[in-house]
Amino acid sequence: TGINFDAYEDIPVETSGQEVPPPVSTFAEIDLGDALNQNIRRCGYVRPTPVQRHAIPISLAGRDLMACAQTGSGKTAAFCFPIISGIMRGPPVARPQRGGGMGMRTACPSALILSPTRELSMQIHEEARKFSYQTGVRVVVAYGGAPITNQLRDLERGVDILVATPGRLVDLLERARVSLQSIRYLALDEADRMLDMGFEPQVRRIVEQMDMPPPGVRQTMLFSATFPKEIQRMASDFLENYIFLAVGRVGS
Ligand code: ADP
Ligand code: MG
Repeated sequence: TGINFDAYEDIPVETSGQEVPPPVSTFAEIDLGDALNQNIRRCGYVRPTPVQRHAIPISLAGRDLMACAQTGSGKTAAFCFPIISGIMRGPPVARPQRGGGMGMRTACPSALILSPTRELSMQIHEEARKFSYQTGVRVVVAYGGAPITNQLRDLERGVDILVATPGRLVDLLERARVSLQSIRYLALDEADRMLDMGFEPQVRRIVEQMDMPPPGVRQTMLFSATFPKEIQRMASDFLENYIFLAVGRVGS
């Protein structure tokens, strides 16, 4: 893999927030469950990267998170592991509901991972599928620039984790083929890129579609390489009593 762990030895890490859960130094210290641990080994992940060391315990503690870290630092696993583990342990997943018209089913995922581009969504989907092998957790991807038919069929078969681009998800919501009422985990990946690409209105519409949950019901994690004003505002709008984590030098 492209991870150079030696370069991480003296990387600066900053955390702030109330009662920050301490970082771990090995995957074995974290109770992710047998199936997920096996998949981690199968992927050749021997030890966690700095963002994983800090973000995984924070996320497993159920806390909202604003994480800033460079590309290639291992963010995908940082949000996928706690989500998969949480779904495996959590209450039984929501049953599919009847959708708008024609008796179509409305998919009710437990987790939503938003990503700015089709390529990134495909990558996250591929990784999330490896991590959830033999866990029973179903991962579906939906992005624009591709026929919606296959995505609709995948959604009909059942979905626990939906990986999506904002534009395609808005389309699916308008068609009532996806409901966000059962979302317990929301991860926004490459949030700064989503804003650069002009997706802020769609992202806000999506987040507003989720019922205002009682505190502790939905967990939200925002990931970004940079921390400009717009991301700071999103963090204060979307996150509840969150922990701020910065790995490496973070630009604004
Ligand atoms: P980011 O999203 O921060 O850009 P990725 O999650 O895509 O980074 O990870 C970059 C690469 O490093 C991927 O090929 C991934 O499989 C690999 N990787 C991530 N975490 C680890 C780990 N703990 N050990 C070994 N390789 C890892
Ligand atoms: Mg990434």
